[in-house]
This record gives sequence, structure tokens and C-alpha cells, in this order.
Amino acid sequence: MRVAFLSSEAVPFAKTGGLADVAGALPKALREHATDAIIILPHYDQIEPDFLTDKVIDRVPVEWRGGIRPTRVRQSEAAGTSAYLIEAPEYFWRSSIYGYGDDHERFAFFSSAALALCKHLAWQPDIIHGNDWPCGFAITELRARRRYDTFYGPTRTLFSIHNIAYQGSFDAQDLWWLGFGDSPERDDFMLKGSASALKAALIAADALSTVSPRYADEVQTPEQGYGLDWLLRKRRDRFVGITNGVDYDIWNPETDPHIAVNFSAEDLAGKRDCKLDLLRRFGLTPQPERPIIAIISRLVAQKGYDLIRQAAGAILETGAFFIALGAGAKEYEDFLQRWHDSAPQRVGIYKGYAGEPLAHQIEAGADIFLMPSLYEPCGLNQMYSMRYGTVPIVRATGGLDDTVENFDPERGKGNGFKFYPYTASALLEKIREALYFYGKPEAWRRIQRNGMTIDNSWSAVAKKYLEIYKEISKF
Ligand code: ADP
Repeated sequence: MRVAFLSSEAVPFAKTGGLADVAGALPKALREHATDAIIILPHYDQIEPDFLTDKVIDRVPVEWRGGIRPTRVRQSEAAGTSAYLIEAPEYFWRSSIYGYGDDHERFAFFSSAALALCKHLAWQPDIIHGNDWPCGFAITELRARRRYDTFYGPTRTLFSIHNIAYQGSFDAQDLWWLGFGDSPERDDFMLKGSASALKAALIAADALSTVSPRYADEVQTPEQGYGLDWLLRKRRDRFVGITNGVDYDIWNPETDPHIAVNFSAEDLAGKRDCKLDLLRRFGLTPQPERPIIAIISRLVAQKGYDLIRQAAGAILETGAFFIALGAGAKEYEDFLQRWHDSAPQRVGIYKGYAGEPLAHQIEAGADIFLMPSLYEPCGLNQMYSMRYGTVPIVRATGGLDDTVENFDPERGKGNGFKFYPYTASALLEKIREALYFYGKPEAWRRIQRNGMTIDNSWSAVAKKYLEIYKEISKF
């Protein structure tokens, strides 16, 4: 089976969040199941040259704005399978991946180029697997092409939602020169007076998925569907939730090259060294007996920063250190700066996107990992944390609810702590409960081991995707 996996970001090339981790791991895992899976993504200029090879496909003819734009595509094997990077300097050689007024144009071009590439290579995919709104144009264009382009006649599509709040909205006038102005798909784009690349893809795809079963249910409710719940309810017989996996080639404390000392579920001794290393890196008092609570996330309201801000004083009163790594909204960056300035020996911050090593060092050195999200499609850090013996405290939403089980001291079961209401007091109560068990080493070791021995590997997850691919190939 041939699968073209389209994504706007993928590890190790370019990353802002969890989608990159998925795109870097799932195609590789599919390959282990005898599937010919390739990745197609834009060629951003931030990509480290080491990941690129000299292999270039020149002059791929991309139909664009009424003409043909010959496009260069670079090839790389750095993600464990063939990756193709679409080169278009005017669109992708910019300082960040998203956030421009012409994002819809940039990713519409990427989408068209991805389809043109497969055709140019005469590599006929059985499945085009598109992810989030930037690939929505490809899913929609493919449906249109099936009407007139025999090459794509047999190809089926899966579209995965990694976060329904990002909808790729733009001025509907632009549909004309994007090539959808007079196509039957035109109306599928329309959402609240604008065009939405996400909505069109939700209609065009042969099947839909999202990144956890719980989130699949949640997005079908008006509270969490961001205006598209009705559409997902309508398509629920073709919509499934599959929890993401963890790439243990990258996130494994036994082999991780970024951390001070490697450790395992059987021998946690090295975790103490990692903790001291982490305290030193953030300039905090070297007191390894004090717990470290940490968070790594984009600084957006979704991630629960309003609760952390409200609870900040009380969190420090527990005696814990707090370490935060994040990039995003200025209001949260300012809050973190103020919090750090008020207690520089107790609150360590890194504002910005730090890349992989620091994220690994935090996972390894912290005791508790906080994810008080308002909503969370899957969440990856709670699963990384578990592997590193760092106990997650999460809000029971989306994938966090699916993957974290509350610790039950009587049965010795559970791998973390979760709270339900989206309030600072519920968060604080859970932090206090977790710290109570932190003070009981035997119970704490139990929670750590329970989490460290869970197998969340991609291999089992890839099999589930394969089943869907096979199912939709029959449509
Ligand atoms: P989301 O996709 O909503 O951002 P996830 O929990 O699914 O959230 O994935 C976030 C990923 O991005 C994790 O691998 C996390 O370590 C990484 N990450 C987030 N912010 C940063 C940052 N500022 N620096 C380094 N890595 C980060």
C-alpha cells in the first residue's frame, strides 16, 4: 500500500507542536508494517542543512494561479522514510512556520504541489493522509481531481484533525484564484461568512480521524466543536479517534543523548542527577529533595495558563520549584517573567522555542509535569513524562483523560493525577494531593513505575491507521 502523509511540520525538520512529532513518527512506523509511506512537507529555510541531501527533483509542474509553476523538491531520509520537501522561497523562507496573512495561499500551494509531485514521480498513492487545515486544500483538490484526472481516480483520502480550533479561515473571494471559485467544492469551504480550509476537508475526505477517542466525542459537541460539531456528527460513521503514540527512539530515558545520566524503570538513580542538572540549568537552588513541577507548552489559552496564573502564589507556597518552557502569547510570557522575577531561585523560565534537548532535560529532571489544559486533542507530553518517571497532573479532557489514570493508593494503580473542573482550586487540590504522595517514596515509586512501564509505542497505533487505510481503499 502506498501512503502519502502530508503535514505542515514534521520532526526532525520543523516543529511547533505535537503534529510534528506525529508526522515524524507515524510514516516511519507504517513502514515497519510493510507500507510504502512517504512524508511531504514544505521546505522551510529553518530546516538544518544536515537533514537535507543533494537529491533534488527539479521542475515539478504545479498548476498554480492559472499557469504552471515549475517547483523544486528536495528529498531526505532523515525521518526514517522518504520525505519530500516542497521548495517555494516566496512562501516558506520566512522566520516562522505560521502566522502570516497569506497562510492560506502558502499552504494551498503546498497542497497542490504535493499532488503534482506524486503525479510527476508516477507514484500513485492508494491513500493521501492530510493533517490539519494546511493540508485541507489537498484533500479537497483530490476530490475534485477524481472527476477528471485518471491518475487520482483510485486514490482515497484520510483527513486527521489535530486541533479543531485552527480552521484555516480566509476571505472567500480568494477561492477564485485558488481554483475553487466555480467548482462544486466552493460551498464546502463556507463557514460563518468566510472560507475554511478545514471545513472543506471535513466534507471532502473519504474518512476522518482525530488523535484520541475522547476528543472525537468532544468535537461533536457544540462546546468543543468550534462551529463544526454538526458536520462531525453528520459524518460520525466515517470518523474515528486514535490516540497518538510515542517515538521511543527519541523519547527514552535509557538511551536519550540529551540528558545528564540515563536511567530506567528498574534503576531510577540517574533521575536525581538529571534533576540536579535541571536545577543548575535554570539557576535554581540545588535542593534535590524539593519537588520540581514543570510545564512545556505553547503559550496559548488552551494550555491552561490562566489557571497557572491564578494559582501561582499558592503553588510556590507548597514549597515546590516551578519550571516553564514555552513560546507564544505575550500576556503569558509577561506573566512568566513577573513570576520568575518575584522568586528567581524557585521559578525557572525559558521563553521561546527551545528545540529538543531542553524539552528532554525537563522531562528527565522534573518530578511532576503539569497539563491543566482547557482542551487537549491528544497531548504528548503526558506520555513522554510517564516514560521519564515524571508524574503527570492533567485536566480530564481529550487525550489527557484517555491516557492518564488517577492514582489509587489502595490498589496501587494509576499513573498520575487528574482534575475535572477548569478551575484554579481544582488544579491546586490535585497538586497538593500529588505532593502528598511525593512525600511517600514507596507510593511515588509505584506511580512512576506504573507510568514508565506503559507501552504507548507507535507500532500498535500504526496498525490501527493501516486498518482504516484498508477500509477506505474499498470505498
Ligand atoms: P500541541 O501540539 O498542542 O502543541 P502536544 O502536547 O501534542 O501539544 O505537543 C507539544 C510538543 O511540542 C511536545 O513535543 C513538546 O515538548 C513540544 N514543545 C512545545 N513547546 C515547546 C518549546 N517552547 N520548546 C521546545 N519544545 C516545545
